Amino acid sequence: MFGKKKTETVEVKEPKEPKPKKAVNMKKLEDLYYAAEDARKHAYAPYSDFRVGAALLVKPNEDSVLPKNKMYTGVNIENGSYGATLCAERVAFAKAISDGVLEYDIGENPFIAIAVSAGDEEALPCGICRQFMSEFAPEITVVTKADGQIRIRNLMQLLPESFQLNKDEQAAVAALEAADVTDDAAEVEEVPAAEPVEEAAEPAAEEAETEEKAE
Ligand code: ZN
Repeated sequence: MFGKKKTETVEVKEPKEPKPKKAVNMKKLEDLYYAAEDARKHAYAPYSDFRVGAALLVKPNEDSVLPKNKMYTGVNIENGSYGATLCAERVAFAKAISDGVLEYDIGENPFIAIAVSAGDEEALPCGICRQFMSEFAPEITVVTKADGQIRIRNLMQLLPESFQLNKDEQAAVAALEAADVTDDAAEVEEVPAAEPVEEAAEPAAEEAETEEKAE
């Protein structure tokens, strides 16, 4: 034997379903689903006609200034380029985050549940949305409806072992970016204002003439 290393095989166990950190009753999840269903009417889906509505439930800590159970709805917004299409789930998250939800003292796991409705068909979040949501709420409850029944799943079931960028690494990247922005801003201040284009064009034309004469 020439020091051949034995490869060890480790069995990867199925992730356990996490217990919800903040209790939400079934009635609230049903209401959330109907809010998603209601939001569907605003969907912009002229190409596929597959209309989706979402409703995101945000539950901050007791002492937060934010309302106890704030709901953000979203719809799918298609685009003629197809690639620029937005899903309802990401729109709901974007609304919540752009409202500043992450800036308040909302505690851990403020995003409790997201309901998704596509009418009679059950619509589970697509792969991009699963990854997107796992950034903010890896343990969020996903509420759908199939065969007339409300269905509850955890995002960890739908996207086990999701990609998560190391937080320390994230902080380092953010610090680098912040430093770059500051340097750029300092440079911009030092650069004198650009001459108007027309004025700048004249001397250039004269120069061209001079060159012609020289020939
Ligand atoms: Zn999606």
